[in-house]
Amino acid sequence: MRRHRRAKIVATVGPASAAPAQLKALFVAGVDTFRLNFSHGTHADHARVHAAIRALEEEVRMPIGILQDLQGPKIRVGAIRDGKIVVAAGEKVRFALQGGDGDAMSIPLRHPEIFAAVMPGHDLLIDDGRVRVRVTGMTDDTIDAEVIYGGVISDRKGVNLPNTILNLSPLTAKDRADLAFGLELGMDWVALSFVQKPADVIEAKALIGNRAGLVSKIEKPTALDHIEDIILLSDAIMVARGDLGVEIPHEDVPGRQKEIVRAARLAVKPVIVATQMLDSMVSSPTPTRAEASDVATAIYDGADAVMLSAESATGDYPVETVRMMDNIIRATEGHKLYTSIIHATQPETEETPPHAVAAAAADVAGAIGAPVIVAFTSSGTTAARIARKRPMLPILAIAPSAAIARRLRLLWGVHSVHSAAALDYDEMISHAAEIARSEAFAQVGDNVVVVFGIPFGRAGTTNNLRVVEIGRG
Ligand code: PGA
Ligand code: MN
Repeated sequence: MRRHRRAKIVATVGPASAAPAQLKALFVAGVDTFRLNFSHGTHADHARVHAAIRALEEEVRMPIGILQDLQGPKIRVGAIRDGKIVVAAGEKVRFALQGGDGDAMSIPLRHPEIFAAVMPGHDLLIDDGRVRVRVTGMTDDTIDAEVIYGGVISDRKGVNLPNTILNLSPLTAKDRADLAFGLELGMDWVALSFVQKPADVIEAKALIGNRAGLVSKIEKPTALDHIEDIILLSDAIMVARGDLGVEIPHEDVPGRQKEIVRAARLAVKPVIVATQMLDSMVSSPTPTRAEASDVATAIYDGADAVMLSAESATGDYPVETVRMMDNIIRATEGHKLYTSIIHATQPETEETPPHAVAAAAADVAGAIGAPVIVAFTSSGTTAARIARKRPMLPILAIAPSAAIARRLRLLWGVHSVHSAAALDYDEMISHAAEIARSEAFAQVGDNVVVVFGIPFGRAGTTNNLRVVEIGRG
């Protein structure tokens, strides 16, 4: 089975989608990578879903990506007396590190790192920013604040601190346990929440090694200050607009999205645009016009993938939502303005041999009317470099490891195949032609472009380009 679009779909699994039949329906509708959200569910739940996806992969004989999303240091208030309190603008509130019986002058906040780092003038945003308070003073274990936007503070609501750099590891004890569990199961990607600085990525990378690709979720203003370095250290990037849209003003999110997508494309790192893309489809069979436009914008920006959260995890219309997303992507990519828009935001080609060869592959394929570019890729970088050119024809990536073939399911324009055969140069060429034909990307008589690095198996080399005529085989 082959997708008739270039951008990919990531869908979060939850109660609405965890059953094997439902996972299959979502895959058929267009999901390329499933996201397991470790903010919810037990290890047993996730293990069941993981096994069902791997079984589905066998059944459909196609690699499918699995992304483990770690909860990260999500901050919450503690128990509130009677479940909730109402605060009004101008009122005073106090947060307590210890004790605190949950009225407005003793809101439990069990996060010592906040008390160590917060300063007068910093804001605390509660419940996705519905309530905003500004710090007026503090001691070692209390924070006094004035309410800016009033509202309801209820039990265990999330807290965002956009102005405060917290001395926090991006991996809590729970994340470390979840990560060990996920790597043992075999995840293709691990997403790190609330990345603040490059050192956070280095710390996570040291734990993950090469066992999975690392996705840095950009959802803190402090991450934006170090975005280039974070992208360089990461294997992929997520524009996590949920928390990002709480921590920075709404009007800044669209521009930041464009900046992050462009910087990731420049660095040859896949980028996912996430959160609320088709949010109204949680409870409606059709999206709003604005949501359809939002998905299209991410596609015009050149994102590798767009993501569904509650829509597919807990919504009433998970399959319809994936179908809708697929339709919007295909209509956008088929629009007459698409090519010129996506190429206008094209990063300059770097003057290195691997980039030049990848760029040449796209040019040669275009010039001779090849139906496909075939890339042998052991680490995935050869395929990624070609994808970065956003060529208007499919990229068929042949990876010697199942793990890399699965990871490549996230990349723009890439159809990945796992083939473990150890080949010499001539065999490689005929193998490329054979797979192009068997995967229905080329027919007898077509000329296809084949790209690879010699010596094969060493990451980072992309130095060979061949035009091959598909024979009768
Ligand atoms: P979350 O991340 O759903 O794990 O919070 C995505 C986001 O914040 O946009
Ligand atoms: Mn988030």
